Amino acid sequence: MRELKISTERHTQLLDITPQVREAIDGADGSAVLVFVPHTTAGVTINEHADPLVARDFESALQRIVPEDWDWQHIEEGEENAPSHPRASLMGPQVLVPLHEGRLALGTWQGIFLCEFDGPRTRSVYVSVLQ
Ligand code: ZN
Repeated sequence: MRELKISTERHTQLLDITPQVREAIDGADGSAVLVFVPHTTAGVTINEHADPLVARDFESALQRIVPEDWDWQHIEEGEENAPSHPRASLMGPQVLVPLHEGRLALGTWQGIFLCEFDGPRTRSVYVSVLQ
């Protein structure tokens, strides 16, 4: 397993990490790559990365689907991040990408995104090549 360290810049941000994942698996021999985020307020997903505005639309959509102004019960002193948890789980903590001849078998428009919901922070992303 390789651990990537990714710094996010905004509170809610989808960040294209496809180049870093490609570099981490460089030349690896296996059937698939597991990309896993060991966090409760960040996730990972695969979607279009050709147009960066798709990521921006995701950010707006998740903020609307899980709004700030609910009667949240999870209150941490000085760190109010209750909506960040369900937003992260909607995206999920992992994606699995097939490998074809040592390369990520992503579709033409697909990219792998780290989904930050409580940034800015430095996040870990675990990249494992499965045999
Ligand atoms: Zn929390």
